Amino acid sequence: MQISGIGVGRGVAVGPALRMPDPIGEPPDAESQAEASTEYRRVDEALSTVTGELVELGHKAGGDAEGILEAQSLMAQDPAVVDDIARRIGDGKTSERAVFEAYEEYATVLEGLGENPAARGVDVRDVARRVIARLRGVALPTVPDSDAPFVLVANDLAPADTATLDLTKVLAVVTRDGSTSSHTAILARNKNLVAVVGAKGSDAIVNGQTVIVDAEQGIVVVDPTADAVVAAAERGGRVVAPQPLTPGTLADGTRVPLLANVGSPEEAAPAVALGAEGVGLFRTEFLYLDARSAPPIDLQRSRYRDLMSAFSGRKVVVRVLDAGADKQLAFLGHTHEENPALGRRGIRALREHEGVLRDQLTALAGAQEDTGADLWVMAPMVADVDETEYFVSLARSLGLRTVGITVEVPSAAVLADQIAPLCDFVSIGTNDLTQYTLAADRQLGSVAQYQDPWHPSVLRLIKLIGDAAGASRTPVGVCGESASDPLMAVVLVGLGADDLSMSPGALADVRATLARVTLQQARELAAMALVQRSAADARAAVADAIG
Ligand code: PEP
Ligand code: MG
Repeated sequence: MQISGIGVGRGVAVGPALRMPDPIGEPPDAESQAEASTEYRRVDEALSTVTGELVELGHKAGGDAEGILEAQSLMAQDPAVVDDIARRIGDGKTSERAVFEAYEEYATVLEGLGENPAARGVDVRDVARRVIARLRGVALPTVPDSDAPFVLVANDLAPADTATLDLTKVLAVVTRDGSTSSHTAILARNKNLVAVVGAKGSDAIVNGQTVIVDAEQGIVVVDPTADAVVAAAERGGRVVAPQPLTPGTLADGTRVPLLANVGSPEEAAPAVALGAEGVGLFRTEFLYLDARSAPPIDLQRSRYRDLMSAFSGRKVVVRVLDAGADKQLAFLGHTHEENPALGRRGIRALREHEGVLRDQLTALAGAQEDTGADLWVMAPMVADVDETEYFVSLARSLGLRTVGITVEVPSAAVLADQIAPLCDFVSIGTNDLTQYTLAADRQLGSVAQYQDPWHPSVLRLIKLIGDAAGASRTPVGVCGESASDPLMAVVLVGLGADDLSMSPGALADVRATLARVTLQQARELAAMALVQRSAADARAAVADAIG
């Protein structure tokens, strides 16, 4: 559901909705049983208390809020209104009713005067509510308390509410009433708070529903798709993901950690918000792509630190520079190659320019010390034992504790029984493993139909890796895009994957599908896929069986 309103500012935020409690109700129009003088004394006392409260709130809030709340405090002393209240009490009204009617009339008069004074009607009614609460001896309904951040949804907000919002908790505000010149809007703008006011359909939002508040477009999206949440996060929004975010678990309780593929430290927060339990592939190319020379160690170290601190205490798998193929770098001596995907790519180029690799590993070891993150480091495009031994020993000598390789060249898959025991972990890159197994350039649209990891040839190579890793007790993950496909995720687990890494937007669907099968069932489904004759048959067989 999408609700339109008026956006304040350009920000975006995502989180669970929490409604402001209903405002204090209208006092009944019953005849007062008390003496008029008693009623009047009570009102007088309530008006002064409310005046004092508003002035004090204004002092505390400071800035524009101070002026707005001070002006509101004057409404509590406005002689015309005070006289009107006294007159109504004299006519036999209760103090509560007299206050309500007098301020209601004041608000209606203001509303008749055009846009700006109309917005002040909210402030006037808020004074009345405060005075009535005081007369009743009840607490004023205030912004709800919550341990977790939330999006505040209200009919309207009084300036005092907006001015005193706890911005560590309130991600955004949505109001049904209000306009760009309402004090809610002015104060929201002042506080850099994401807000959509005048959102007429917002009555339908219930507590706990996830909402995207997009001030730039003036819309509120209720129960958004995971992709929409990711897009909001990518625009720099504060995101608190839909609950609950349980860890990846099969139906029998087997844990399958679900990790995120990220390409820059800025993608870390959105991934965490979507429930990533760590990072399964951090592609580091972003640091090098526009550079004329390799970035200095200090700069790299601080960027790695940015990423790792978002995942403190959790696993972060970083892949060292994978240049070549579609990412050619002059400082790695790349020149024209007829088939660059089969050229000096990944570890091949790094080995020839060991200084670049050493600097990167040194920066990573430094960030590991800075953050205490559980850092795992791997090399791309490794083909055999020689390359594995080269990388593992170099990385360990530079202080990296957990070192492994990406298995994405079919040669490494075939030799997995030799390679896995040499590593602290292996991670299967199904994008390249598919391209090289089926000899189909992944950049070429004309052979795109071959780029299908469901192909039994690819699945059989994955099984070789899973079996070899299992035999040597080497943890094995999958970081290719195939892990984003919920059915394939089941098969990958059945073939031996211990964890899966994917685009953050896919986490929710994969999590839900894995929860439906046991490890035994995943193994049976994988066995079924392995004996099919084509990618389409393998996918169909698993889809049919899962139902
Ligand atoms: C892969 O090849 O599967 C992989 C994850 O790496 P990239 O897509 O960056 O080549
Ligand atoms: Mg790859």
